[in-house]
Amino acid sequence: MLSIENVSFTYESGASALEGVSLEIRDGEFLCIVGHNGSGKSTLAKMLNGLLLPTEGTVTLDGMDTSDDDKLLDIRRRVGIVFQNPDNQIVTTVVREDVAFGPENLGVPTEVMAVRVDEALRSVGMEQYADSAPHMLSGGQKQRIAIAGMLAMEPEVLVLDEATAMLDPLGRKDILSIVKKLHDEKGITVVMITQYMEEALYAERVVVMNGGKIEMEGSPREIFMRGGELRSIGLDVPAAVELRDMLKESGVADLGDAVDQEEIINGICRSLLKN
Ligand code: ADP
Ligand code: MG
Repeated sequence: MLSIENVSFTYESGASALEGVSLEIRDGEFLCIVGHNGSGKSTLAKMLNGLLLPTEGTVTLDGMDTSDDDKLLDIRRRVGIVFQNPDNQIVTTVVREDVAFGPENLGVPTEVMAVRVDEALRSVGMEQYADSAPHMLSGGQKQRIAIAGMLAMEPEVLVLDEATAMLDPLGRKDILSIVKKLHDEKGITVVMITQYMEEALYAERVVVMNGGKIEMEGSPREIFMRGGELRSIGLDVPAAVELRDMLKESGVADLGDAVDQEEIINGICRSLLKN
């Protein structure tokens, strides 16, 4: 449904941020994009709803081109982006108004706003804060408000650009489970950009960016079998996968392509019992 075709992008400064990127984002999928700083992730995110337009190539949502002015509002309503810094996304002094702000600007009719705002706040577990002042909330709560603002547009695609990067581990976990639930229960397409490899385990598909290009693509299981390649471009594997690789290298146990913690712990237990 979201189609990125041979997209290149150069900033006015002359910095080339994307080079010949092609990617299809399927309806209802949970995609994760990883890559070290400066690899082009945020530039790519901004391409998805026309905040930036390709220097070369095209980005289309159900055939609508982001460079078509007439389609831009519709595309922005259907593809919501939550950014890294929660403070930059707060624009009013009351939570309820903040959630309504984005959708109202994108032309969502006032009559349906109240209902949508309530529902969006419920979806992120923030309904009791509807009349609070956003600046009094924690970083994690502010991100939940930012997500609610997107949900009130009833988007088809939710893009999170390192939306958990400034949160503590608990806040991070909250956001992840909210996003997972939105995907599982509402069928929202999720594009999660993250520097935490553990978060990539939630995804159905992982895209690895390096130097403005797509370096690897596959399921988390496939990607995390390629630890050496990941390390060579400045990335990591989840801690449990690192342990798995160490056990294999030292000849202690071969846990195959196990990726999640439970799977790896079970594998270790089994191999201990065998020996
Ligand atoms: P990431 O999100 O993976 O860290 P970015 O998309 O932000 O990567 O950046 C990709 C490249 O584009 C980097 O070299 C970065 O310095 C450059 N860049 C990003 N934003 C701007 C900007 N506003 N002006 C000029 N260059 C930029
Ligand atoms: Mg970025």
